[in-house]
Amino acid sequence: MARYKDANCKLCRREGEKLFLKGSRCMSVKCALERRQYAPGQHGQSRRRKISAYGQQLREKQKVRRTYGVLEKQFRIYFAKSDRKTGITGENLIQMLEGRLDNMVYRLGFAPSRKSARQLVRHRHVLVNDRIVDIPSFQVKPSQIIKIKEKSKNLDLIHASLKMARGEDLAWLRINKAALEGELLEVPKRIDIPLTANEQLIVELYSK
Ligand code: SF4
Repeated sequence: MARYKDANCKLCRREGEKLFLKGSRCMSVKCALERRQYAPGQHGQSRRRKISAYGQQLREKQKVRRTYGVLEKQFRIYFAKSDRKTGITGENLIQMLEGRLDNMVYRLGFAPSRKSARQLVRHRHVLVNDRIVDIPSFQVKPSQIIKIKEKSKNLDLIHASLKMARGEDLAWLRINKAALEGELLEVPKRIDIPLTANEQLIVELYSK
C-alpha cells in the first residue's frame, strides 16, 4: 500500500502551520515549526510572493490531505463521494475523513498521531464491534464500538498517548480510558470538528 515516507515536519513547514503529525514532539519546543518558521528547500527563506487564488485552493487541499495522511488519489475519491452525497460537499468531505478508523483511534487518544493510529490498525490491534479491522480507511458509523484488542492493552504507546493532554473535548465521542474503548455517538457537525481549514476552497479547486 502506498504511503508518504518523507519527513513529516517538512509538510508542516510547507503549510506554515502545525499539522500535528508527530505526537508529543508537536507539543514540545523540539517542534520544527517552532525553530524554523519558513518553508523547506533552497528558496524557503526568500520572501514569499503573493499567492494566487489557485495557490490558496491548492495549499488548503494539501493541508487537509496531509493532516489526515491521505494520498492524492484516495483524497479525490473522497471528494467524488462527498460530491455525490446530499448536503454540503465540503462538510461531507471533512466528515468522511473524520470517520476513518485511523482518525477515530487518534481522536480517542489511543495513539499520539494519525500515523501511529494507522499502524495500530494495520497491525491488528483494533476491534470494531468485537471484530478485528485492519483497514485504516474503514468508515466508522455511529454506535459502533472501537476497542483495543485484549492482548494489546498493555502496549506502552497506547498508555503514553492517553497521558498526553491534547485538550480536545469531543461531544460526539464517548471514551472509556480504563477499558480502552470508545464509541462514535453521532456524525460530527463541521463546527464541532477541531480542524482549521476552509474546505470550500477545496471544493472550488476540484470543481474547475
Ligand atoms: Fe509538524 Fe509536529 Fe513536526 Fe511540529 S513536530 S513540525 S507540528 S510534525
